[in-house]
Amino acid sequence: MEYVLHRKSNCKKIKIRVVKGVVQVSAPFYVSKREIDDFIKEQETWIQNQLSKYTVSKENDKIPLLGNEYRLHYIDQRKCYVEDYDLYLYPDTKLIQLFLKQNAKKYIDLRFEFFCEQLHIQDISLQYGFYKSKWGSCTPSKHKICFNVNLIFMPLEFVDAIILHELAHLYHLNHSKEFYDLLCTWMPNYKEIMKKNKKNPIPNLY
Ligand SMILES: [Zn+2]
Repeated sequence: MEYVLHRKSNCKKIKIRVVKGVVQVSAPFYVSKREIDDFIKEQETWIQNQLSKYTVSKENDKIPLLGNEYRLHYIDQRKCYVEDYDLYLYPDTKLIQLFLKQNAKKYIDLRFEFFCEQLHIQDISLQYGFYKSKWGSCTPSKHKICFNVNLIFMPLEFVDAIILHELAHLYHLNHSKEFYDLLCTWMPNYKEIMKKNKKNPIPNLY
């Protein structure tokens, strides 16, 4: 098994951590390589279990971005960009998140404006963030709506559905029948779209 070894003077025993799909081992200087390997073998089941939770997207994986699919390449220039149907990313979480946020914002801002115009809604400010368990949120009292940047990986009809969902919260804060009635007048196939995209995976881009 491959692992990254850190020798540490302040370390009293061998420790294993799995961080973003990489096995990291720290060990005191006096422990032999053989002892470390034996220890790793003992812990193999646990390590495999941790590894399976985090599979980073690899070279040539197909990554969906705003309705198109791109072939992924990790590069060693410090930038992230799209060219034709190729996606080039520098493997740095902050840089990749910034790239995703800028591109999600560029698209969703425009789409949001379009719906606001149609529905005669004004003066709502937008925010973007990475959220674990929500696609968006709405605070009518503050005229504020937040969107999850990971929407960038979802089909465009799903992005529309989430935008309209949050806009409907301006009128009904809960998920009552009235809320869904309103939402379905705006988007009759709302429930179908949500159901269809329920299990879409979010890629792990470094
Ligand atoms: Zn809601």
